[in-house]
Amino acid sequence: MKRGEPLKRNKGLDRGTSELKRTRLQPMSKKRRSEAAERRAVVAEAHARDGGRCVAADLVPHVTCWGPLDGDEIVKRSARPGGHLDAANVQGLCRAHHSWKDDHPIDAARVGLRPFPVGYMGDRTVTTSSHVTSCPRTGANDVGDTFTHDGDDTPHGST
Ligand SMILES: [Zn+2]
Repeated sequence: MKRGEPLKRNKGLDRGTSELKRTRLQPMSKKRRSEAAERRAVVAEAHARDGGRCVAADLVPHVTCWGPLDGDEIVKRSARPGGHLDAANVQGLCRAHHSWKDDHPIDAARVGLRPFPVGYMGDRTVTTSSHVTSCPRTGANDVGDTFTHDGDDTPHGST
């Protein structure tokens, strides 16, 4: 058996110069995983704040609660990047009320489960802004740092 020259490999396999080949292979790794853990913690915090029950149970009594409690984003993360990692923007909704909210965005906004849909003008002209600010949940309507919260969680006057 005749052998030619042994195969030489002076350098590593050529990856070429194409942009495609040079893109990184791990776009989602540790960061993505830790965000999932953070998200779970945020949802747990929101559920604890809500007493472990569906926040819509009393607001929308004609829908009967069903199924596990979800961590629902009051302002969708598409409208508010990072909002799913802010416990103030997360509320506990059962499956029944979650799908009700998705199916009835206007009614859901009226009871404060979400902001009014972009472009919807119907209630804004009727509902005064004082109502909006007086409702802690619709406070999330003011996307950003004007979320109405007293920041007065610790009683300090009576001691
Ligand atoms: Zn419910």
